[in-house]
Amino acid sequence: MDAGVRFIGSDIYRRSRYGSNHPLAIPRVSTCIDLCRTLGWLPEGVYIDSPTASPEELTRFHDRDYVDALRAAEAAQAIDEASSARFNIGRGGNPVFGEVFRRPATACGASLLAAELLAAGVARTVYSPAGGTHHGRKGQASGFCYLNDPVLAILRLIDRGVARVAYVDIDAHHCDGVETALGSDPRVLIASIHEAGRWPNTGPFDEAASPTLVNLPTPAGLNDTEFALLFEEVVVPAVVAFAPEVIVVQGGADALADDPLSQLGLSNNALWRAVHAIHALGRPILVTGGGGYNPWSVARAWTGIWATLAGHDIPDRLPATAETMLRALHWHRRRDQIRPESWFTTLRDAPCEGPIRDSIADMVLRSRRRIGLAA
Ligand SMILES: [Zn+2]
Repeated sequence: MDAGVRFIGSDIYRRSRYGSNHPLAIPRVSTCIDLCRTLGWLPEGVYIDSPTASPEELTRFHDRDYVDALRAAEAAQAIDEASSARFNIGRGGNPVFGEVFRRPATACGASLLAAELLAAGVARTVYSPAGGTHHGRKGQASGFCYLNDPVLAILRLIDRGVARVAYVDIDAHHCDGVETALGSDPRVLIASIHEAGRWPNTGPFDEAASPTLVNLPTPAGLNDTEFALLFEEVVVPAVVAFAPEVIVVQGGADALADDPLSQLGLSNNALWRAVHAIHALGRPILVTGGGGYNPWSVARAWTGIWATLAGHDIPDRLPATAETMLRALHWHRRRDQIRPESWFTTLRDAPCEGPIRDSIADMVLRSRRRIGLAA
């Protein structure tokens, strides 16, 4: 075990839900923690209980009146119509729920702590599966994200003297909140692979964009082979060329074929290979979670990301304790009732390799040219 590897979690995610019909009414972080524990992958000294970010820490990026409104909504368990419209709380997939301030503030506390540990050289690799709320706005909730922990982590790194940070986002949705906040900051490289034509409909391929902005929107049905080409031929070389001192990876699991909210077609092998490739660059790294709305695919993907970062071998078949945990998960969703045995007995999906479509090959060539790499 590399002494510089840390997993930041919290029990707040075990009891907190967004509401019974919300896509996030599923356990995600708690299942990942439980699986890692039962597999023996969280030895003494590796797991850190997450702090909660203070309002003062949050206002490094977020507006004070927005942070106050979130706290007030939690206290009252309600929000008035005018504030709801202004802050996008209590509507648009961003419900008022029991821990509507503390839960996102805990995810931010984890990412801020990770930034501190990385900047101080206390840790080299930090995993916080609760993080990755990349849609959060300065003064508004958006897309199930109330606060924006990646932005706060990157700003904390910069505040601690880090000169260049690379942010790599493999969530199915474009990281609009991060791009809006930091997309014109030359100290930050933002690279995202996401589904074209999907909410929030930002992040187009733009030949004229700054070289520190690498958006790779892909058609539905993206397969492992295409994803690997985009990642290895564009994202990794862009990160290497940028020479970041620290890397932040948003490891959303909603680009997986089994996810109900996107139409990308990846297996978790593709995500693990991507995380491994970035980790292997040897820079201090924070890896967060993100989207992921099928409780089995997200738990298996994120547990495998931790194995990838911490150097554990993924068994072909899970031990009985892990299988029991996975079989005990409930999903309120009536559709998608077919639940293959592999969701309960394995971490690793069958690969989803496939042909490389012309539009993807073309985007790789044009991207490489644009950021100054040889075709
Ligand atoms: Zn997403």
